[in-house]
Amino acid sequence: MLISGAEKLEKMRDGRRVLIGKERVGDVTVHPAFKNAAQTVADLYDQKADPDKRDLYAFEEDGEAFSVYWLRCKNREELARRTASAKALADATYGLIGRSPDHVAGLVTGLAMNPGVLEKTGKGFGDNLLRYYQKARHEDLFLSFAVTAPSGIRGQEVATGDAGLEQPALRVVAEDDDGVVVSGMKMLATGAVFADEIWIGNLSPIDESRKAESITAAMPLNLPGLSLWARQPYEMHAARPANYPLSHRFDEGDCMLVCENVKIPWERVFLHNDGAQSRQIYIDTPANCYANHQSNVRFWAKMGLMVGLASRACLANGIDQIPAVRDILGRLAALEATVGGLVAGQNEAWEAWPESPDGYATHNRRIMYATLNWCQEHHTEIVDIVRDLMGAAPLQMPASTDILDDPELSARFDEWWATPTMDARQRMKLYKLGWDLTGSEFAGRHQLYEKFYAGSSLIVRNSCHREAPWDHFHAIVDDLLDEIEF
Ligand SMILES: Cc1cc2nc3c(=O)[nH]c(=O)nc-3n(C[C@H](O)[C@H](O)[C@H](O)COP(=O)(O)OP(=O)(O)OC[C@H]3O[C@@H](n4cnc5c(N)ncnc54)[C@H](O)[C@@H]3O)c2cc1C
Repeated sequence: MLISGAEKLEKMRDGRRVLIGKERVGDVTVHPAFKNAAQTVADLYDQKADPDKRDLYAFEEDGEAFSVYWLRCKNREELARRTASAKALADATYGLIGRSPDHVAGLVTGLAMNPGVLEKTGKGFGDNLLRYYQKARHEDLFLSFAVTAPSGIRGQEVATGDAGLEQPALRVVAEDDDGVVVSGMKMLATGAVFADEIWIGNLSPIDESRKAESITAAMPLNLPGLSLWARQPYEMHAARPANYPLSHRFDEGDCMLVCENVKIPWERVFLHNDGAQSRQIYIDTPANCYANHQSNVRFWAKMGLMVGLASRACLANGIDQIPAVRDILGRLAALEATVGGLVAGQNEAWEAWPESPDGYATHNRRIMYATLNWCQEHHTEIVDIVRDLMGAAPLQMPASTDILDDPELSARFDEWWATPTMDARQRMKLYKLGWDLTGSEFAGRHQLYEKFYAGSSLIVRNSCHREAPWDHFHAIVDDLLDEIEF
């Protein structure tokens, strides 16, 4: 089913508990910290529901239309459809919404392509997952996820006194015939403020001594005992959109997920008491690949904004035709094309995987992980190049665009802040945008996001190592060694 933006906004008003410091947010769709981002999410749903865009955003199965990101692909053409839909959604937010509705949906879709992996960990879990997949795609659920134990306490026993827990990492504290009860917290639920549900699990390895933390399940966000502790929202300080055009509407929010005796019924549990498998399920299915292919595509969309902005800033500064500057712009353009090529290559070298009678297909896993690594390695450098090219121009702009409300000040501004290549107001817009992409708190959070959203570089490179054909590489060397004679 394709859901409208208005329906999504209505679901955000479900009584969820969101905290900004000690403030309890009533309705995220009207609160000054969240309302514009809520609308941004709603706009994505309207964009998808447009009947003229059906070919791009929807597929049909048994007479029902679903968003393309729920498609369990069987060939290269279908994989390319996933890519095209992800690119169109990412372009709509300039690649600035990381956990857009197509991210965690990819994870669940990937699991639904090999549910036997879950069934092996406990009878009925694979069926639970398949049923949840059917429900999620039917309702086009917007899922967020918190799949990382809190930093600083991973694997360590922490006395927490009155709470009565051995440690605050989210875990099962009780179970009965109806389901499990979880308590503790998990990081870092991006987008959860606006999502319909949250997925809990583990994308980082945990060992058997912590198997109570392996619980993998999906929860509506308004369950009793569940709360979202938000970091500082940036939208709040961007009341005048032109001052912080990105913070104003693209702050997707990051929250600690805090659960105090939250009851989850068994039909929403997909794995329990299996430390080793709680991460492995995403690797033995296309889950990790489908979700992170979306991340690669999103980064590509963001590259378009960064390269375009760099070039426009050079034009505004009158330096765009200087050979040394053209050289830098050429390099940026090459980097953008590189990501595009890495994305295309994942479909060009698609894999028939996992083995199943259904004959499913996935984007090339090695290239997907290599792209994650590439993006992680280059994002900070690219932002730095853009910042460098802008020089101090963003700081020459007045503190607020409200000077335009003052006839005397705006006349002076219009006259003196213009350059031969750009009028003053266009420059102000451009450099406010540039600052929000490279220097503001929003920009700083993005630098952290691109480094860590898929796990630290250790996790990403571990995946690159795991998927590499070492036998093939070794054979190349060994054959050559055999040819060498003393
Ligand atoms: C903006 C943002 C959004 C996020 N969104 C989500 C989300 O939606 N869902 C979710 O589940 N998680 C999310 N995360 C969390 C993300 O999964 C974690 O940040 C990531 O797993 C890394 O964990 P950490 O931040 O605790 O860093 P750590 O694991 O503590 O790492 C910190 C540093 O220490 C280094 N380090 C750690 N261990 C070693 C070692 N053994 N040897 C050498 N160096 C080491 C790392 O390389 C890194 O540089 C998000 C994070 C950010 C920043």
